[in-house]
Amino acid sequence: MSSAKIGLIGLGTMGSALALNIAEKGFPVAVWNRTTARTREFRAEAGDLAARILPTESLAELVAALEKPRAIILMVPAGAATDQQIEALAPLLDPEDLVIDAGNADFHDTNRRAAAGPPMRFLGMGVSGGEEGARHGPSIMGGGDKADWDRVAPILTAIAARAPDGSPCAAWLGEAGAGHFVKAAHNGIEYADMQMIAEIYGVLRDGFEMGADEIAGVFRQWDEGPLKSYLVEITGEVAAAKDPRTGAPMLDVILDSAGQKGTGRWTVVEGARLGAPIPVIEAAVTARDVSARLEERAAGEARFGPAPQPLSGEVSVLEQALIAGKILCYAQGFAMISTASAEFGWSLPSAEIARIWRAGCIIRSAMLDDMAEALEGAPERNLILDPAFAARLEADLPALRRVVASAALHGLAAPALSAGLFWFDQMRTKRGTANLIQAQRDYFGAHGFQRLDGGPEKHGPWAKPANEI
Ligand code: NDP
Repeated sequence: MSSAKIGLIGLGTMGSALALNIAEKGFPVAVWNRTTARTREFRAEAGDLAARILPTESLAELVAALEKPRAIILMVPAGAATDQQIEALAPLLDPEDLVIDAGNADFHDTNRRAAAGPPMRFLGMGVSGGEEGARHGPSIMGGGDKADWDRVAPILTAIAARAPDGSPCAAWLGEAGAGHFVKAAHNGIEYADMQMIAEIYGVLRDGFEMGADEIAGVFRQWDEGPLKSYLVEITGEVAAAKDPRTGAPMLDVILDSAGQKGTGRWTVVEGARLGAPIPVIEAAVTARDVSARLEERAAGEARFGPAPQPLSGEVSVLEQALIAGKILCYAQGFAMISTASAEFGWSLPSAEIARIWRAGCIIRSAMLDDMAEALEGAPERNLILDPAFAARLEADLPALRRVVASAALHGLAAPALSAGLFWFDQMRTKRGTANLIQAQRDYFGAHGFQRLDGGPEKHGPWAKPANEI
């Protein structure tokens, strides 16, 4: 093989899988890794696909191995490592060559890199689906110049997951950091989806006092219905699994303290910056932070006693509550995407985003089909106001209320489900309570307020006369 269609830097978990995927789809790929031994090992393990893999041992060799204009995918840790690779490549590339950052970059970094302009072209590309997705079909969220995307689109669409209708889960979403922003929003929703499932698992385990096998059965059954999704499916698998060492359910031997790499937190910070309410995602990120405080939680239980008290009820109510929570969470996520789109001038295509999340990525689910349809007709409308989703909410919200209320009464923590419910109750209340907030702000800070009757007075009778200290 004399030259490759595309190059790839970083043969870690994701890069190796992506390179094999590219080769499998018929595109010769040149690869380079910082640690050369890994490059050799990778090619040796590539089996039949090795014929389409060109291993290189220097960046100059990688660049020389590529068809012009060149395209190189970076699959290295976000941040400094990505900057170092871009800097190292810059003197070796021509202005029309393209670097595609497929790592989990902060979209502000992608904006900065895109704005830095030549020496070469630059795309920021969010990739979701973990190792399995990268190997057999991820969801790909592209950002940068459309012309650059179009150049590599044949390869990217070929390696992407296929939705149930056969369409590829890869799309150009907008300029500069648009792709990486949508990837962060995806990860925020992923945190929220996982947290709501975990809260329902908590009700089943501590409220209904079910064992792991029984819980596995519940999730497996739900995966046949409206909640059909990758996360519900793997929850069933995880709950059914046994620890090879002790024979106990795996879930019962795993510490209840979850880590995070930061993309969920980025989403929360961005939501706050944009003034876009995403309380379910916030609750999910906070719940992981709380989970890490093991000693404090143990001290809390020692002082106040174990909180969870058994409760009884229909499992179907929990299913309905999870459906409602999921709709509310996605309504917030898509509303945030819409706000960011306006703020950054991106024209993010909400329906297309829902479509490319239908397969390949961690949050893939049957419900995204309906969401894509709803957003197609009215991309700016909040999902809760879509007629079909409004009807589903009307049917399932009473269950969410019952679950949140019962959880509160029985001391079961359900922060994400509660956050969804209370956001909804604010969103369906025309006259809320911010009149009092306005009055308070005016009282202590003379910030002024607007009147319902449009009257001219901007301050209350509590305002101090100008001559009073
Ligand atoms: P790994 O840790 O498995 O691999 C990292 C790769 O980057 C290795 O090839 C490593 O080379 C290389 N690398 C590390 N530091 C540098 C550096 N300073 N300069 C050059 N190369 C470097 O990570 P992943 O494959 O999991 O992740 C890669 C990217 O993909 C990250 O941005 C991650 O956030 C993103 N991502 C990961 C997902 C996942 O599920 N794991 C999902 C979606 C995106 P060496 O062999 O020399 O150490």
